[in-house]
Amino acid sequence: MSKQTEENGFTGAPQDLLVVRPEFRLADIDPGSTPGFKGGKSDGQAILAKRDSQLADLQERLFAEGKGGGKRSLLLVLQGMDTCGKGGIVSHVVGAVDVQGVRHAAFGVPTEEERRHDFLWRIEKQLPGPGMLGCFDRSHYEDVLVPRVHGLINDDELERRFSSIQDFESRLFENETRIIKVMLHLSKEEQKERLAARLDNPAKHWKYDPGDISARQQWDDYMAAYEAAILRTSTAYAPWYVVPADNKWYSRMVVQELLVAALEGMDPQWPSASFDVDEEKARLAES
Ligand code: ATP
Repeated sequence: MSKQTEENGFTGAPQDLLVVRPEFRLADIDPGSTPGFKGGKSDGQAILAKRDSQLADLQERLFAEGKGGGKRSLLLVLQGMDTCGKGGIVSHVVGAVDVQGVRHAAFGVPTEEERRHDFLWRIEKQLPGPGMLGCFDRSHYEDVLVPRVHGLINDDELERRFSSIQDFESRLFENETRIIKVMLHLSKEEQKERLAARLDNPAKHWKYDPGDISARQQWDDYMAAYEAAILRTSTAYAPWYVVPADNKWYSRMVVQELLVAALEGMDPQWPSASFDVDEEKARLAES
């Protein structure tokens, strides 16, 4: 664990503690836990605020590197049951960086046109370009979760999609896109409270979808589908992290830490000036 990680309140690096390993079982992870963090909510929120500028600085470097001809990009994939906090991560974690360097895409029920193509077609169109931080609010993983739970695809098709996803992500990696996949692991009880809070607040009714109750009724099937998909597609080049999400402050600070650690590992470089700096200073002085 880096000294910096320790200074930021973690007793263990989230990228090591939460990364999915072959023996992974979803049921072993308590959604209310805060692995690797010894503090409470106010400590977590303070760290989150303190780290914003570090994330913003690293992202600016990546963006600048891209402007200078670099090819690298970073893609954050967010998955989880309704109310798991994807939106909060987009606004509170990713939202702390300069928007011009962010490519955000949310994937809802596929349109007629999208259904006519392979499931990766709509995903490819939203990939981050050079220097960009991509943020997927749902993703190609919906296509190995929803149809499986609804019995719309058989095992052969599911397997074909898993293989396609692996090939796709491997290709992204070769094209210098670093991928971080996060499942925000929420408990059924906490989801009930969050949905009840939405129903109680007219300002939150727009976020409520009656269909969310149907998904709740198939909770166990969704958990089984998540576990299978995560086990089958967690690779060295596109690892899955299962992040306990009953405490929003914890899941936010973990995703922030995963992004910071990934960007630190990439070590993006400011591009060197394409002009003579001294000459430009002299011209400026004379102007
Ligand atoms: P969210 O539910 O992500 O918080 P939202 O309600 O604004 O946000 P919607 O446009 O309603 O988003 O889309 C989300 C819904 O679309 C989810 O129920 C999700 O399971 C479903 N969905 C996304 N991709 C697919 C897919 N490939 N196949 C079937 N359903 C999908």
